[in-house]
Amino acid sequence: MRRYSAFAIAREALRHHEGWDRAWRSPAPKARYDVVIVGAGGHGLATAYYLGKNHGIRNVAVIEKGWLGGGNTGRNTTIIRSNYLQDPSAAIYEKSRSLYETLSQDLNYNVMFSPRGVMMLAQTEHEIRGYQRTAHANALQGVATEFISRQKVKELCPIINIDGPRYPVLGALWQPRGGTARHDAVAWGYARACSDMGMDIIQQTEVTGVTREGGRVTGVETTKGPIACGKLGIVVAGHSGVMAERAGFRLPIESVALQALVSEPIKPVMDVVVMANTVHGYMSQSDKGEMVIGGGADGYNNYTQRGSFHHVEETVRALVETFPIISRLKMLRWWGGIVDMTGDRSPIISKTPVEGVFVNCGWGTGGFKAIPGSGWAMAELMAKGHSPLAEAFSLDRFREGRFIDESVAAGVAH
Ligand SMILES: Cc1cc2nc3c(=O)[nH]c(=O)nc-3n(C[C@H](O)[C@H](O)[C@H](O)COP(=O)(O)OP(=O)(O)OC[C@H]3O[C@@H](n4cnc5c(N)ncnc54)[C@H](O)[C@@H]3O)c2cc1C
Repeated sequence: MRRYSAFAIAREALRHHEGWDRAWRSPAPKARYDVVIVGAGGHGLATAYYLGKNHGIRNVAVIEKGWLGGGNTGRNTTIIRSNYLQDPSAAIYEKSRSLYETLSQDLNYNVMFSPRGVMMLAQTEHEIRGYQRTAHANALQGVATEFISRQKVKELCPIINIDGPRYPVLGALWQPRGGTARHDAVAWGYARACSDMGMDIIQQTEVTGVTREGGRVTGVETTKGPIACGKLGIVVAGHSGVMAERAGFRLPIESVALQALVSEPIKPVMDVVVMANTVHGYMSQSDKGEMVIGGGADGYNNYTQRGSFHHVEETVRALVETFPIISRLKMLRWWGGIVDMTGDRSPIISKTPVEGVFVNCGWGTGGFKAIPGSGWAMAELMAKGHSPLAEAFSLDRFREGRFIDESVAAGVAH
């Protein structure tokens, strides 16, 4: 595939842009692959990419029931950070954040990674203690964060009202190399690179069953017919429970809708990402100028992939004390995605009771930031049967009581 470069753009400008290749092929499925990945979200595509790049496994199909990146990967608010509390989490999220730093160069696709800095506001005494503890843990883990004063918060983000009557800002956990990236571009960049390695991305095809023989996977049933495979990766976020059932096992996971909204575009007012966990809202400004606002998850299990007005009202009401300017903004659109939540708010990257079937799920409200690191670890697990980054996230932890409690770090939607 022809590389993207400034020279290529100039050349195509002179040729009316008629010489570009298709970014990825849309092939008919083959009868057999070494590896089938279900789900062409960021995590599924990244798994396929690192299987090819790091382990030389390229006879791979990624099967997607809708369009690639059309699940949570194309619906999130794009926050990237690695300031988690527990060691295994910090390791995988920091691996991921560091891969984001050079992802555009690695994929030859501009994913618009913008390490503009992420702050998590402390608005109660309890939060101050919690975030100071995380900052100390991060120092030991080699993750660059610091606890900053309320004056520094105001300096970094002048539109914040730090003297709110109910929830004044008391400080913040600050990660200067956290930030955002363009979510669609992450999916598109991985898809293009996978296609370039000869992998097949098969869209508009649902995996409806998993075939087994003697406790081992032999293939999948799809709406385009059966496909045989040596190994199967289930990477379907909010549909993990459904797919696990089709493969013959159960997962300790719940699916709920999570929502977000954007305002009309305005001139630049904010060049950091701010999360306010006490009031349950967070905000950043997109390159187009829209204020990107995330809210909470529904309080009950469901598969509704759409927004609802009461969430918009609740989230904006929560944020308006800290960001008075949003009271004068018109909201443009809102939407929802189906996220997969585990009890300890940590992901699952694991072998399963069916030999040859691997599962990657449970990223809940915060898996966009983890896409490169998760793909790296899942590919290693599938290729070698073991991955140091994934070890702590196995399914066994629920049986053995080795929970990785991230309910503070991942408690708010992000
Ligand atoms: C509103 C919202 C805001 C968020 N904000 C952030 C944020 O700021 N930062 C952050 O880090 N994370 C955020 N997240 C979470 C993040 O989006 C997800 O954790 C992440 O995108 C999950 O990626 P994935 O590849 O696992 O899943 P998805 O992108 O959902 O991909 C799974 C794919 O599997 C497909 N699929 C399902 N079943 C089948 C089947 N049977 N056959 C074939 N295909 C199937 C689906 O169609 C889908 O495309 C947010 C999520 C939402 C909804």
